[in-house]
Amino acid sequence: MSELIISVSGMRGIVGETLTPAVATEYGRAFGTFLMGSSESSGVRLKVCVGRDSRPSGEELLSAVAAGLCSVGIDVVDIGIVSTPCVGVMLRHLGCAGGIVITASHNPVEYNGIKLLLSNGIGPAAELAGQIRQRYFDKEFERVDPPQFGQVTFDKTTDAVHIEKVMAIIERETIAAKGFKVVLDSVNGAGGRIGKDLLGQLGCDVVAINDEPTGIFAHTPEPTKENLTGLCDKVAEAGADIGFAQDPDADRLAIVDENGGYIGEEYTVVLAAKYVFSKMKGTAAVNLSTSRMIDDVAREAGCEVIRTAVGEANVADAMVRNKCVIGGEGNGGVIDLRVGPVRDSLVGMALVLQLMAETGKTVSELVSEIGGYYVSKTKFAADKDQAGLICEKARELFTDAKINTTDGYRFDFDDGWVHLRMSNTEPVMRLIVEMENESIAKTYIDKVNDIREKILG
Ligand code: MG
Repeated sequence: MSELIISVSGMRGIVGETLTPAVATEYGRAFGTFLMGSSESSGVRLKVCVGRDSRPSGEELLSAVAAGLCSVGIDVVDIGIVSTPCVGVMLRHLGCAGGIVITASHNPVEYNGIKLLLSNGIGPAAELAGQIRQRYFDKEFERVDPPQFGQVTFDKTTDAVHIEKVMAIIERETIAAKGFKVVLDSVNGAGGRIGKDLLGQLGCDVVAINDEPTGIFAHTPEPTKENLTGLCDKVAEAGADIGFAQDPDADRLAIVDENGGYIGEEYTVVLAAKYVFSKMKGTAAVNLSTSRMIDDVAREAGCEVIRTAVGEANVADAMVRNKCVIGGEGNGGVIDLRVGPVRDSLVGMALVLQLMAETGKTVSELVSEIGGYYVSKTKFAADKDQAGLICEKARELFTDAKINTTDGYRFDFDDGWVHLRMSNTEPVMRLIVEMENESIAKTYIDKVNDIREKILG
């Protein structure tokens, strides 16, 4: 049985085994108690916005978390089946002290999770996440008398509020004039309803597949090449201009070109940035493991790129501090602060369609203009001490590299980079290498593997 994981982004486990309604209620009480303790305006009644992806276990866990919040005297606004970015948008729109999303993102249907957002729409930083986790384990919860118990209300305005914010960052008429044919694969997750609505309002001819929010995933949910053959076929068969794939909580977006070819998730944030940079000179923030294609696009536009530790909250936080015009992660996550500080597939779709509309170029033309690199992502078992040793040995070996130690060790060379970092959730070290081509990448991978074998045996 896999363990219940409590990390910076919240809690994740197997429904009915490690993640039960009792656990969810206590986690809700822990988060609620934390929010009441950190509230500057003491005496003010707090509310928390709660939504869920389409997993069948979602209603049970949402009700349980809401019960926990009510028991400590916090009101709950239930916004139902929505994407993760929707909760980020709505909690700020409604003036909530925090938000909770019941989702296990791209994990299989047996899993579910509880993701926490603070009043700014961003997940708690490591130190605050640690405090919430400790409170959950210590079971020191706020307790109120009956008149103060929280109440649950329901809000159905999410789609309209969110779409209005997305519309404000693009020019609807330019996109609508093109009448793009778009295939949208929502994997029967939470993004189908709002995704179709947005694309329809952008004047697209939408072919929706797997758009029932049943949580019975039509294919393995992570939006990677091997899981999207159905979408690729549909784009080719329909003669569409583009195919979009969302993950179950619709924060990630993968793209299929007009020939039915999967272009890879790394291009999503790069294409979005290319459009934004064409309108605004500014700075982008992405994590250390994101492709340097974004550096190329930024350089061409006279813009800058900031690199952050891996983790959505780290990117979003850096974006706010540096007033970034765009940001995200190479896993298909695009963040535009004008909509919200959360990775958002709707933002990704709108910005990419706008780029296509303004340039008059197809997806494959845009991709070949950007070019590409060879990227290898692997992982191996290692504990903290072993990981530290591996990084030290790599530092001794790669003396000609520029080194960034924000999150593990990232070594930058003229022809690419090597990133070694520990996973946030398991005793695993990740090795990401991006180089001009496969054979150069292999020489670096071999060098790291030599070090690894010497240390791990
Ligand atoms: Mg996700």
